[in-house]
Amino acid sequence: MSAESRQLALPLAGISVPPPNGHAIPRKDRVYVNRDLRLSTIDWVGFDMDYTLAIYRQNEMDRLSVELTIDRLIRRGYPSYLKKLEYDTRFPIRGLLVDKRYGHVLKMDRYKVVHLGYHGMQKIPREELNELYHHKRIRPHTPRYHWIDTLFALSEVTSYAAIVDAMERRKERVDFDKLFADVRSAIDEAHADGTVYSYVTSDLERYVERDPDLARTLHKFRSAGKKLFLLTNSPLAYTDRMMTFLLGDALPEYPSWRHYFEIVVCSAGKPRWFQEGRPLMEIDGDALRHVKGPLERGKIYDGGNLADFERLANLRGSSVLYVGDHIYGDILRSKKESSWHTAMIIPELDAEVEAHELTAADRARQRTLEDARERLENELRYYQGRYKELVKSNADDVFAQAERVRVKRALERIRAELRANIAEYDAITERVSRTFHPYWGSLLKEQSEMSSFGLQVDLYADIYTRRVSCLRHYSPQQFFRSPYDLMPHEL
Ligand SMILES: [Mg+2]
Repeated sequence: MSAESRQLALPLAGISVPPPNGHAIPRKDRVYVNRDLRLSTIDWVGFDMDYTLAIYRQNEMDRLSVELTIDRLIRRGYPSYLKKLEYDTRFPIRGLLVDKRYGHVLKMDRYKVVHLGYHGMQKIPREELNELYHHKRIRPHTPRYHWIDTLFALSEVTSYAAIVDAMERRKERVDFDKLFADVRSAIDEAHADGTVYSYVTSDLERYVERDPDLARTLHKFRSAGKKLFLLTNSPLAYTDRMMTFLLGDALPEYPSWRHYFEIVVCSAGKPRWFQEGRPLMEIDGDALRHVKGPLERGKIYDGGNLADFERLANLRGSSVLYVGDHIYGDILRSKKESSWHTAMIIPELDAEVEAHELTAADRARQRTLEDARERLENELRYYQGRYKELVKSNADDVFAQAERVRVKRALERIRAELRANIAEYDAITERVSRTFHPYWGSLLKEQSEMSSFGLQVDLYADIYTRRVSCLRHYSPQQFFRSPYDLMPHEL
C-alpha cells in the first residue's frame, strides 16, 4: 500500500469515511471463519508452541531434516551417493498421501478421489492414476498409505521422493514400503536423540522467524481479561529456549515469557493428552511431583490430560479457544474430545491467498467458459438429434439435402468450439495450479472442490489464519461470523 492510499483512509475532519471494518485488513492477515465464534464468551486462550507461536523457516528446517535423514540412512547401509542427493524442499504440501506399495505421492480431493500424483519427482500420467485409484475406493487409513498432515512431516516426503528418484535412475530396486519406514525412523531418531533440537537452538535466528507483533497480540488478550496457557509437546528445556527467543525481551511489562501465561504445560503428549493422557506432574527442578491442588501461575507442568487439566484449572471447555497448527494433534482431537473452540494456524495461507488473488481473472474466465460449454453441449445435442431425423426421413429433395449440409456444418462448428473451449479451460487450469504451487496446485482446494486437507480444516477449525499475530487486528470481543453456507439448491 502506498503512503498516499494509507493517508486517504484516515478519518479527516469534515470528510465522511466509512468506519473501519474487517475488509480494511489485508486478505493475507485476515482471520477466516468456518463456524461462528464469539470471543466475548472466551475466558481462556491456549497455544501450541511449535509452528504456532514459533514460526519455523520451512525451507531451513526441511534442509536440516533431509540432511540428518540422509546421514542416518547411509549409516544404516543405504548407498553413499545419497550424500549428494538432489532434492526440492518446495515439493511437498500438507495433505498428501504416500502410497507405500508403489512409492507414489498423491493429492486427493475431499471425496478421496486422487487427482494428482508423483512417482519420485515424475508426474504420474492421468490414465495411470485412473487405472490405479479410480476403480476401487481408496482407504487412506490402512497401512498401505501414510497421510502427511504436519509441517514437520513435509521433509519426509522431500527425502522419500528424491531418494526414489535417485535410486531408480541408477536402476536400483527400491522397497518403497521399507524406504518410507526407514526415512521416518531416521528423522524420528534425530528428534528423539536431541540432534534437531541442538541444531535449532544453536542458531535460532536461522530456523525461526521472530514475529514482532506476537507479544502485543498476547498482551491485547490479557488486557481484555483473558487468561493464556501454553500446551506444548516440547520438553521444558527446549520450550524455555524457544519462548525466550520469541518473547523474552519483547515488552518491558513482561520480565520473561512465562509472565504471559497463567498455565504452562510441557511434554504434553498430544494427541493422547486429549484422551487418557498421563498423570499431570509439576516440574520442580530436576524432579517431577504429582499435582494435587489447583494449577498455579508461575509453575511449569508436565504431561497430564484434558480431564485433569480442566478440573485443576477450574475452567469450562466451552470458554477455551485453542490455537494450534497440527490438524490431528491440536485441532481435530480437541474438537472431538473436548468442547474447546479451535483456531488453526496455517502459515501457507499467505501464499494461498496471494495465488487466489493473482488468479481472479483466470478463474472468472473459467466460469465464462463453463457457461459457454454448457450452451455448446445443448446445441450439440440439438443438432445431433436433428441430423438423425433428417437421415431417418430419407427425403432426397433439394431442400432436405441443403438442410443436411447446414446441420452438418453446424455440428462441425460446435465441435470445433467445444474443442477450443476445453483446450483453453485446461490451459487456464494448469496456469492457475502453477500459480498456487509448482507441483500440487492449491493446498486447500482441488479444482473446484476442497482438497482432503481443506476438508479437515473446514470440519475441525472454527477459525483459521496465517499466524497468531493476525488476531491483533480484531477486538478481543470480536464476533467471528461464518459466511452463509449455501447448498446447491439454494444457489
Ligand atoms: Mg505445533
